[in-house]
Amino acid sequence: MINRDQEISLYDATGFKSSARFWRGLLRTDTGASQSFEPEDVQHERRLILYRLLLPVMLCATTMVLIEGLLVALSLTILNVFAGLTSLLLAVTAYRMFRHNKMVMPPVMALLITLITVVWSVKLGSIYQELWIFLLMIALTALLPLAAGLVAGVLTLVALVWAHGWQGFGGGFALDAAIFSTWLLSLAMMQLQTRQTDQLADLALTDPLTGAYNRRYLLPQTRRHLADYHRYARLSTLLLLDIDYFKRINDEMGHVEGDRVLKALVTLIDGRIRGADMLFRLGGEEFVVLLSEVGAQTARKIADDLRSKIAAQEVIQDRRVTVSIGICDVTAVDSAEDWLLRVDRAMYEAKRKGRDQVYIEEPSPRDPTNVKGTIPMWR
Ligand code: GH3
Ligand code: MG
Ligand code: MG
Repeated sequence: MINRDQEISLYDATGFKSSARFWRGLLRTDTGASQSFEPEDVQHERRLILYRLLLPVMLCATTMVLIEGLLVALSLTILNVFAGLTSLLLAVTAYRMFRHNKMVMPPVMALLITLITVVWSVKLGSIYQELWIFLLMIALTALLPLAAGLVAGVLTLVALVWAHGWQGFGGGFALDAAIFSTWLLSLAMMQLQTRQTDQLADLALTDPLTGAYNRRYLLPQTRRHLADYHRYARLSTLLLLDIDYFKRINDEMGHVEGDRVLKALVTLIDGRIRGADMLFRLGGEEFVVLLSEVGAQTARKIADDLRSKIAAQEVIQDRRVTVSIGICDVTAVDSAEDWLLRVDRAMYEAKRKGRDQVYIEEPSPRDPTNVKGTIPMWR
């Protein structure tokens, strides 16, 4: 099942990371095809509108503010220190946004606009009143979701009016409004893009029926766990579960019932495994569990427990659904492909022995220096 806390190679490209609990909770109540994403064309349309309308607005506002800000900055002395400190904070914030969202434009825009606004506000002699507001705004931009950002924006505007009074703004009020709306819009754009990235990642990596990870994601994860074993001697184990006589369930009860069994199985497994473990749907009625920091013997206990829990669960009335489980730990394998092959073999051995049981692929003896040699001395 989805666990976003793990570093995911595909996600690294987008810099996306989020709370595992949040996603797991989301998927549990929303398991299955009910996960609704907007059609592609709607997203595309919205994106175009955003880019066509917002970018010119942002560019205009930035240019205006930039010119005025530069003029002001030239005549400043000690107050530049404040602006300097603020810009340092802004730089950190922009860097954070860039790392997590992999977007250059909005953070840079926000950075420029906010920085210059600070410098500009110095001219009005209100640095002490405004500095904290800007710092707060920056922190909120980096930490909070869009709704909170909007509230922060409105509060900031109110605080500015409070500081200057309506008259105090004079001709600059329009400019202030432009600055804040630009800031808010860039924030909105950033949020939208992040959401789209999340949705794409979900579509690419999960099985729409059960919410488990799909096959595409399995190989990179097994490779990574194999590398972890070679580098850190960190154990992990694969379980391959295949529902026994699943075709009969489909044939006798219909595909809808079959689907229900698949979903119930995923819910049960997901409830039993730990947050660091991952569940994949290999295809049809076959599932793989990747157990982190678990060797074959512990895996056997987990597999036995899963097997008996699945057999005891009555998804279809008066019908026992059982699984055959193959186990293979990382110590026995040469490559990720080999690992999957061996666990598959183990599962078939469990089938051959009569189904509703667990079979461990025994590790073949191998040269222990192969692993030890790669562990650094200081460990
Ligand atoms: P065995 O004990 O040997 O595993 O027997 P089996 O019947 O489970 O094995 P087999 O591979 O012949 O059957 C798998 C069935 O899974 C065939 C197919 O109809 C069904 N299936 C595959 N994908 C889905 C799906 O998404 N939904 C449903 N309901 N059935 C599916
Ligand atoms: Mg099968
Ligand atoms: Mg089967």
